[in-house]
Amino acid sequence: MIEARKLPPREAMDYDAVIVGGGPAGLAAAIRLKQIAPDAAVVIVEKGSEIGAHILSGVVVDPIGLDKLLPGWREDPDRPLKTPVTEDKFYLLGPSRGVRLPNFLMPPLLNNHGNFVGSLGNVCRYLGAKAEALGVEIYPGFAAAEVLFRETGEVLGIATGDAGIGRDGKPKDSFTRGMELRGKYTLFAEGARGSLSKQIIARFKLDQGCEPQKYGLGIKELWQVDPTLHRPGLVQHSFGWPLDSKTGGGSFLYHVEENQIVVGFVVHLNYTNPTLSPFDEFQRFKTHPMIRDVFAGGKRLSYGARALTEGGWQSVPKLTFPGGALVGCSAGFMNVPRIKGSHNAILSGVQAADALALALSEGRAHDELSSYEAGWRSSEIGHDLKKVRNVKPLWSKFGTWVGVPLGGADMWLNDIFGFSLFGTLKHGKPDYATLKRIDQVAPIVYPKPDGVLTFDKLSSVFLSNTNHEEDQPIHLRLSDPSIPVGKNLPEFGEPARLYCPAGVYEIAYSDEVKKSDPRFVINAQNCVHCKTCDIKDPAQNITWCTPEGGGGPNYPNM
Ligand SMILES: Cc1cc2nc3c(=O)[nH]c(=O)nc-3n(C[C@H](O)[C@H](O)[C@H](O)COP(=O)(O)OP(=O)(O)OC[C@H]3O[C@@H](n4cnc5c(N)ncnc54)[C@H](O)[C@@H]3O)c2cc1C
Ligand code: SF4
Repeated sequence: MIEARKLPPREAMDYDAVIVGGGPAGLAAAIRLKQIAPDAAVVIVEKGSEIGAHILSGVVVDPIGLDKLLPGWREDPDRPLKTPVTEDKFYLLGPSRGVRLPNFLMPPLLNNHGNFVGSLGNVCRYLGAKAEALGVEIYPGFAAAEVLFRETGEVLGIATGDAGIGRDGKPKDSFTRGMELRGKYTLFAEGARGSLSKQIIARFKLDQGCEPQKYGLGIKELWQVDPTLHRPGLVQHSFGWPLDSKTGGGSFLYHVEENQIVVGFVVHLNYTNPTLSPFDEFQRFKTHPMIRDVFAGGKRLSYGARALTEGGWQSVPKLTFPGGALVGCSAGFMNVPRIKGSHNAILSGVQAADALALALSEGRAHDELSSYEAGWRSSEIGHDLKKVRNVKPLWSKFGTWVGVPLGGADMWLNDIFGFSLFGTLKHGKPDYATLKRIDQVAPIVYPKPDGVLTFDKLSSVFLSNTNHEEDQPIHLRLSDPSIPVGKNLPEFGEPARLYCPAGVYEIAYSDEVKKSDPRFVINAQNCVHCKTCDIKDPAQNITWCTPEGGGGPNYPNM
């Protein structure tokens, strides 16, 4: 790495609000702020090559957030969500059969009628255009790489990463210094496991007194299917097979527009068997007799993966700190049983912007946006998350067969009577601490992909259009390079090989048969920015850092 003192100084620009991340939360915050404070100077930095390029979601959208932010959106001919949910199905799957659960048994808050299916990437592209029309400056292709602090400790803004540094840490001819974007307030809207949000949470101890954040890994494909098999607006979820009863997760399959379906699988990252591969579980899921027929004659168009937060109500950290706030999934506003977070991301952007506009109107800067922190638990976001707060802990504690029905009963009670028999349950260990040693588990053996319905990781990453400048420092930093081979390999079989959905991590041997001289290989250029390694590495030895801006996946409409 180049020493900071040898670098030329960075240029700086001043704003009222600096927003890190152009997802639903960041864009909503920017739009709301300009709606109520049109003269405010607002900037968004987005690490994807364009708004939407790094957005991966289901998606069934609860329109409560959009209705609040842009009340006329339903009449807009350019609106990104045009397909309402028409049918809602839940399945419990066994290895060769399954049962559909009657809708009347399902807690009302899981009902998807009134929601819309579509692409969250396209929702963000729509919001991006609205924000720009209001005068928000948006810089796609720029990653916020560093938080800036005032001498007195408040957050001052962010710096974008330097570009044009070689793998050896030395500047190349193309070297360009990053920019400092300074704000009276900085909002971190980086989504689940944001790299700067993680630093901010640690520095200001925002998670003191909360339960640990929990995560899942969601893997998704977009398919063009036979029109005779397509039923626009059909929304289908399952749990059970191929996961065993102690491993949490499930599938989603939505019939969106233009004879396309999205299909995906979420594995809760508190799984215990280090030989589990979320990617391969997803591939197996598609082969189930009750699922596979919809893909007959179809073509896979796109692939991607992203972590999601699962801790909910009891894991949301303090949202504010001097000079800024966390919004959206950086704060953990995902509702796990509903598999929805985009509505709360938008609502939290709105709430943070309201607090920020109030502060600007009072001539304040760099202090805490206390009204945002004080208000969220009694707002729509709090009501949404509180009712489901025990579902994830019950599932984790009792497994699928007992935990899921208990969670369902708890949601019914909460919906009707507004209370839970369980109070507020704890989540237990953080996800990195749940793996058993490899000698304590039965290894999972996955079938080989057929290249028609099931695929390998590399052909999948190809469909995510992932691209990184190869000659740059590896953005997956190891605190101790000896741990993967010295500790993780003997204890856990180095699970990074399996949990990474992009095949970034490998163990290579000088003699593959004798398994001699193991080496840990990082194919950083394949990284789809899901953040799972930062979450699940048992030694917490991998830190996901921002690569050069613009690198990563280029999702068309995920
Ligand atoms: C598989 C899956 C299925 C889901 N299904 C649904 C669903 O059906 N319905 C629903 O409502 N929700 C769903 N969600 C959740 C939903 O996607 C999230 O709640 C929502 O995207 C959160 O919005 P956000 O703006 O907080 O973060 P994100 O959508 O993650 O956006 C963050 C943005 O910030 C950018 N960024 C991050 N760090 C930096 C940085 N340092 N510098 C610059 N830019 C940065 C990212 O590139 C990204 O564009 C699903 C999630 C997953 C993973
Ligand atoms: S390297 Fe880490 S962040 Fe990148 S795709 Fe693999 S698990 Fe996800």
